[in-house]
Amino acid sequence: MSQISKGLLRSLIIRCSDVGLDCGHVIFGDSECRIIQNAIIHMHEYHAIIPEEMTTCMKMKIRENIHSYRDSMRAQILDESSDVPEKILPVI
Ligand SMILES: [Zn+2]
Repeated sequence: MSQISKGLLRSLIIRCSDVGLDCGHVIFGDSECRIIQNAIIHMHEYHAIIPEEMTTCMKMKIRENIHSYRDSMRAQILDESSDVPEKILPVI
């Protein structure tokens, strides 16, 4: 918990791979509006997808795949240690 700031726990994330691209990049943002903007910038810089050419389907996928960082971390912990009872997992 110490190296994870409270700001980070409140932020939203999208994995580029969730949008359908073969990329391990994780995009952060502190609001839905900001993260969509960041995602569009990332698509442009890393994947040469011009914002004007982005399909509605892609924008929908971005919106659908916004997760809170906190939920994502919890899911990851539960996933990696599925044989550990939930009550002994650290609370994040
Ligand atoms: Zn990417």
